[in-house]
Amino acid sequence: MPAFSRDLPNGPSPARPGDRDGDPLRVAVLGSTGSIGQSTIDVIAASRGRLVPHLLAAWRSTGPLLEQARRLQPRWVVVGDPAAAAAIHAGDLPSGTRLAAGPEALDELVADPAIDRVVSAIVGAAGLRSTWAAIEAGKAVALANKETLVMAGPLVMQRAAETGATIIPVDSEHSAIHQALACGRPAEVERLVLTASGGPFRTRSRESLAAVTPKEALRHPTWSMGPKITVDSATMMNKSLELIEARWLFGLPAAKLAVVVHPQSIVHSFVEFVDGAVIAQLGPPDMRLPIQYALFYPDRVAGPARRLDFAATMRLDFEPPDLERFPALRLGHEAAARGGTAGAVLNAANEEAVRGFLEGAVRFTDIAEICSRVLAEHPFQDSPTLDDVCRLDAWARQEVGKWVCV
Ligand code: NAD
Ligand code: MG
Repeated sequence: MPAFSRDLPNGPSPARPGDRDGDPLRVAVLGSTGSIGQSTIDVIAASRGRLVPHLLAAWRSTGPLLEQARRLQPRWVVVGDPAAAAAIHAGDLPSGTRLAAGPEALDELVADPAIDRVVSAIVGAAGLRSTWAAIEAGKAVALANKETLVMAGPLVMQRAAETGATIIPVDSEHSAIHQALACGRPAEVERLVLTASGGPFRTRSRESLAAVTPKEALRHPTWSMGPKITVDSATMMNKSLELIEARWLFGLPAAKLAVVVHPQSIVHSFVEFVDGAVIAQLGPPDMRLPIQYALFYPDRVAGPARRLDFAATMRLDFEPPDLERFPALRLGHEAAARGGTAGAVLNAANEEAVRGFLEGAVRFTDIAEICSRVLAEHPFQDSPTLDDVCRLDAWARQEVGKWVCV
């Protein structure tokens, strides 16, 4: 398992804007119509030509995707759902843009040598295959799709080391840690502390949580994000997935990972070094900064992200997480420590349980309960292959299906 280096989680320094005689950096945005995708488009648009979109991909949101294509004129537009792609007419696209459909086409196009950086921002387990294709092709990957590492962290990091691919985190906590790690050497790290907003139910009683509605769970106090990750933030399962993500990305044992609740979402995480020094990265809750950091790394440039205003009074609060009220967080510590297939099973069970919750089939508090049972009952494997991971992902979904139907 490759550990992080002083400069990068792994791999060599990726191509930078201007490396090729002032050429811009060509970017593929996987999931361009989503929350991260749209923020990425903002960063590209504000880059004054240093970043150009080469490929934009989404599932079936063809209206917003075509609008992005007309505005930015990428070389390729890829629609994941072939039926949605079939409804697009040639005249809907700008003259220099070509259309492709289906996951296989995306796998192939993401490996195009013309692409310098890949933003992996498809939501859920569906993001693994195109991210894997980018890693196989040795790309510099700006990774928002945490599920890739949650499901197959050891395999992904190993493959990236072999192909020369670089993984630069976009998840704000991991981006903060990536930045803070530059202040010391790997052997000097005592622990990584991930901050969590605590979500919309931070101060609610355990009893009242069973009655939470999807509408309430989708109202996040500090971040504006896609629906799945917003529900994960409300259960704190998002922090569980992030613990597992950090475990593999930074190559540290689970015992060196901790979580602290920080309701303002301004301190994006900490690294504590052996001498007791704690280094953090701060900024308003705006994903455009970690996205831009990952796209320009190792350079820093001015960009569109909001700034902290030190002329105004600012409070920063920290409190320990409550594992009784938010049992989903316990599962993340457990799965990060266990490794193997635990992350893939937890992730798949959670995806299905969240879907059930949003459809009104399961209660909010059932999400963690369902995940806990499926995790406990799954046929654990210590060193799974990618096929094993996909098989257990499907198994976990089936298991949850039994709960959601009753
Ligand atoms: P979202 O639901 O807003 O957008 C998802 C995007 O993926 C859309 O463009 C959708 O069309 C596309 N998509 C879905 N399934 C697809 C498929 N099978 N093939 C191709 N495209 C597909 O999600 P989001 O909130 O932007 O999150 C994206 C990823 O980034 C998630 O893994 C999430 O955990 C991670 N992330 C998000 C945030 C955030 O602030 N939103 C922060 C950190 C990490
Ligand atoms: Mg995060």
